[in-house]
Amino acid sequence: MGRHSTSSSSKTSSSSGGKHSGAPGSGSKTKTVWYCSSCRFGPLNIDIDEYCPDCQHRRCSSCTVTTIEYNPGR
Ligand SMILES: [Zn+2]
Ligand SMILES: [Zn+2]
Repeated sequence: MGRHSTSSSSKTSSSSGGKHSGAPGSGSKTKTVWYCSSCRFGPLNIDIDEYCPDCQHRRCSSCTVTTIEYNPGR
């Protein structure tokens, strides 16, 4: 005691730790996936899979893009 500590010094660029509207519940994460419009293969990771590994179809506007909820499994 007797020492003033600025709580603002522990502020980081990350928004984690605070309440973020739009996140349903804690512990579950969401991931954006897509399904091939050519052969319906999926789900595919939209971040790393630009082409369908099954028919080599490239993700286009006709492909189904959806967000799924998954558990990290802890
Ligand atoms: Zn495909
Ligand atoms: Zn497509």
